[in-house]
Amino acid sequence: MKQLVQRTFNFNAGPSALPLTVLEKAQQELLNFRGSGMSIMELSHRSTDYEEVHNQAITRLKELLSIPENYEVLFLQGGGSLQFSMIPMNFLQPDQKAGYIMTGAWSEKAFSEAKLFGDVYHTASTKDSNYRRIPKFHELQYNHDDAYIHLTSNNTIFGTQWNEFPDTGNVPLIADMSSDILSKPFDISKFALIYAGAQKNLGPSGVTVVIIRKDMIEKANSTIPTMLRYSIHAKNNSLYHTPPTFGIYMLGEVLGWIQELGGVKEIAKRNEEKAKLIYDTIDNSNEFYLCHAELESRSLMNITFRLKDEGLEKKFLSEAKKEGFSGLNGHRSVGGCRASTYNAVPYGTCKALSEFMTHFQKTHE
Ligand SMILES: *Cc1c(COP(=O)(O)O)cnc(C)c1O
Repeated sequence: MKQLVQRTFNFNAGPSALPLTVLEKAQQELLNFRGSGMSIMELSHRSTDYEEVHNQAITRLKELLSIPENYEVLFLQGGGSLQFSMIPMNFLQPDQKAGYIMTGAWSEKAFSEAKLFGDVYHTASTKDSNYRRIPKFHELQYNHDDAYIHLTSNNTIFGTQWNEFPDTGNVPLIADMSSDILSKPFDISKFALIYAGAQKNLGPSGVTVVIIRKDMIEKANSTIPTMLRYSIHAKNNSLYHTPPTFGIYMLGEVLGWIQELGGVKEIAKRNEEKAKLIYDTIDNSNEFYLCHAELESRSLMNITFRLKDEGLEKKFLSEAKKEGFSGLNGHRSVGGCRASTYNAVPYGTCKALSEFMTHFQKTHE
């Protein structure tokens, strides 16, 4: 008999909610993966059973994002954070600079890491507004011979997101999409490289997706450690060494779930509906709740807010916890509250939060 489990209202920032149907399928297949008599974790990464899973995940991602022929999809390890180092190590030449668009804590980390390897500068920064907004295109200042420009498409901690991406011409544009990949459609051809740790919108932690244009692979440095070269992973279909097989299996299942729902456009529609529920609650609260992000920079994935009466915030969070909400504490650098409404967070969960917020306001005004 199927056990009824009480699932929490999961607003965790990462690792975060996974689709229930994917978890159930993984549970079903755990002891005997497709008749092998083993779990997927116990199979060789060189077996055809595994290779099918691996290649299907690549194909699904290519389909979902309409990735053109001149890009490779890689599954790496080390999280979004190792990409902060791999990018400058592979692409930053001694006679070049790289520009970083500073929109939050993750941009700062990427920048600090790149500084260890070469000449980097700020293309633009919104730090003086405590990263409340995304810069306008006209604020971006860069050189036409830069090695690359780096941006963070969604700022997980501050709750801001790019609506539209700049066109940087011949300068390769690189994006950290760890917290919003597959949340809405975008034109991949603007980018030379995109990366995302899986644990927010794609699956469990342990896999990092890299989508890289082939000319970037060719021009990358070859005098760096083997495991840190994009070219090695591309040449070996991300099987140069043992990949995180269970994570890639889960990633493939999450991608299959998105395909069944109707693809990225459909997911985007749902994400907008979900975020609107909560933003509307904040906007209609007569400033009982306040957003951190400026209106036109608001993220669909991470909704950062606080209570006007900061003394009530602790109570709000503890009552929310009692009611079965998890992960609503804001990041320590912003404080307040944050609801992460990633792809796999159901509409009903957001509805429950909106109702809880309205109720809390009514009883504490
Ligand atoms: C979570 C996050 C990271 C860090 O990812 P790890 O996989 O923990 O290294 C990097 N960038 C952004 C935008 C994130 O949200």
